[in-house]
Amino acid sequence: MKKKKKIEKLRKYDYLKKDFENVVKELQSKCKHPKKGVYWADEWWAFGHGTGRKLKICSFCNKIIETKPKKPQWVCGIKRKKYRKLINKLKQNLKEERK
Ligand SMILES: [Zn+2]
Repeated sequence: MKKKKKIEKLRKYDYLKKDFENVVKELQSKCKHPKKGVYWADEWWAFGHGTGRKLKICSFCNKIIETKPKKPQWVCGIKRKKYRKLINKLKQNLKEERK
């Protein structure tokens, strides 16, 4: 008896899960993802462990609209942050020279 009840509960769970997934799918296909509700978030594979990828998510239907690949940390043999600083310095120097 107890086993049968468990199986029934599991079937009910599966049914509800599928039903929920179908409703979500329908919502996501109908949603127009308005610009106000869309935000960028970091992707995590576990708590405190980011994959480095960025996800564009709709806050109304929770659909991942776009993913941005991980940015390489090294550019031309220098760390990205240092590289950025150098480029900005060079740009400023050029501006000053033009004056
Ligand atoms: Zn949406």
